[in-house]
Amino acid sequence: DLLVVGSANADLVIGVERRPGPGETVLGSDLSVHTGGKGANQAVAAARLGARTALLARVGDDAHGRLLLDSQRSAGVDTAGVLSGGAPTGVALITVDPSGDNSIVVSPGANARLTPADIRDASAQLRASRVISAQLEIPLETVGEVVAGLAPGSRFVLNPSPPVPLPAAILAACDPLIVNEHEARVVLGASVGDDPEEWARALLALGPRSVVITLGARGALVADDRTTALVPSVRVRAVDTTGAGDAFTAALAWRLGAGESLVEAASYAARVGAAAVTKEGAQVSFPTAAEVASLAGA
Ligand code: ADP
Repeated sequence: DLLVVGSANADLVIGVERRPGPGETVLGSDLSVHTGGKGANQAVAAARLGARTALLARVGDDAHGRLLLDSQRSAGVDTAGVLSGGAPTGVALITVDPSGDNSIVVSPGANARLTPADIRDASAQLRASRVISAQLEIPLETVGEVVAGLAPGSRFVLNPSPPVPLPAAILAACDPLIVNEHEARVVLGASVGDDPEEWARALLALGPRSVVITLGARGALVADDRTTALVPSVRVRAVDTTGAGDAFTAALAWRLGAGESLVEAASYAARVGAAAVTKEGAQVSFPTAAEVASLAGA
C-alpha cells in the first residue's frame, strides 16, 4: 500500500495576451480549474496505475476542497486521511501568455496547516503503509514528523520540491531521495559541476540510502552504495511535461512497494513519466497500467 503525504491545490488558469502591470486590468480567457498539488498529483498517478493508494493532506472547508476530494475519490484514492478546515484550500493562480510561459502565485492555504500533530493523529495509518511518499509543499516539520513515525519495515520516498536544504534526519530516511537537476543543486547547497554522477555521489554522502536524479528526456540516474545506473527515457513526442515528475515518483514508489529493485522500479517509472508528457495537463495526462504497457518505443 502507498500512502502519499502532501499538498492538494486548485490550479486556476487564465490565458492572457500580456500580463497586467501595477494598477492595470487586462481581460483574459475563460477560467480553467484543474486539480493539482504534488501530493494530490502523486496519489492520482499511483491510483490510476492500479496501486492501492491513500492520501494524507489538508484542504479547506470550501468548494475547491470538495472538488479535490471528489477527484481523488473518482481516481480510486482512499481519502479518509484528508483533513478539512483551518484555512482555504491551497490555490495556484496561473496566467499563461501566448508563448506558453506561466506566471504563478501560490497560496498554500490549508497545505501550510497540515501539522506534525496531524501526522501523529494518523500514526496508525502511517505505520500500516508499506511505502510513504512525501514532497515539500507542506511544512518541513510535518515531513520530519512523518519520518519520526515510520514503522521499521516501511520505506520513505521524498521528492524535495520546492527544494530547500534538508535536515540530516529526513535525509537519512530517504530510500530514495528523488530530485531533478534544480532540486539536486539546492539540496547540495554547494557549487557543483554539471555531471549527474557527481551529484549522485555528493547526495549519497548526505545520508540517503539511495538517490534518483530525473533528467527529463535523458532518463533517470539511479544510485545507491552498490550501483549507479542510467535508466533511459522512452522516446515520445513531448506535448506537456507538467506533472511528469509527480507521475514518475508515484510509479517508482508503488513498484518499490511491490518488491522491485530500484532499477526495475525506475524503468517502469520512466515509462509512466514518458506517457504523462504525451498529453496536456497534469492529472488528466497520467496513464493507466494498460496505457503504460502499450506505450510505443520502449
Ligand atoms: P521534473 O518534472 O520533476 O523536472 P523530469 O522532467 O526529469 O522531472 O521528468 C521526470 C521523468 O519523466 C524523467 O526522468 C523521464 O523518465 C520522464 N520524462 C520527462 N520528460 C520526458 C520526455 N521529454 N521524454 C520522455 N520521458 C520524459
